[in-house]
Amino acid sequence: MPRPLPNPTADSRPFWDGCAAGELRYQRCARCGQTQLIPRALCAACQHDQLQWQTSRGLGRILSFTVVHRAPTPAFKEEVPYVIAIVDMEEGFRLMVNVKDGAGKALSIGQPVCIGYRAVDGSTLPQAEVVE
Ligand SMILES: [Zn+2]
Repeated sequence: MPRPLPNPTADSRPFWDGCAAGELRYQRCARCGQTQLIPRALCAACQHDQLQWQTSRGLGRILSFTVVHRAPTPAFKEEVPYVIAIVDMEEGFRLMVNVKDGAGKALSIGQPVCIGYRAVDGSTLPQAEVVE
């Protein structure tokens, strides 16, 4: 079973192009200022359609995390154990990402992380890296 990879849409292509360029891009609403990621056509707060793409500094803190010990599909059998975290980014949006080498680290809520990138089968995926 092949590993599932990003399939960019018109709404999400700027995000994935950003990852390939080493940039974490997110949307900011021109009307209310709300930031968001996952990319959407409308602002999740006020439904305005004038969203601007911005580039994050890539710094955040772990809001929550889990250690995955059982691969959800055979495609992830070689990856376990791994860590998935929800990260509160300093620009105000949240991102769910893998934590690089996370299963071997003593992670905690509030742990500072920065966003790095990982090439997987022709795609570039964001990943959190613990700030030591
Ligand atoms: Zn808005």
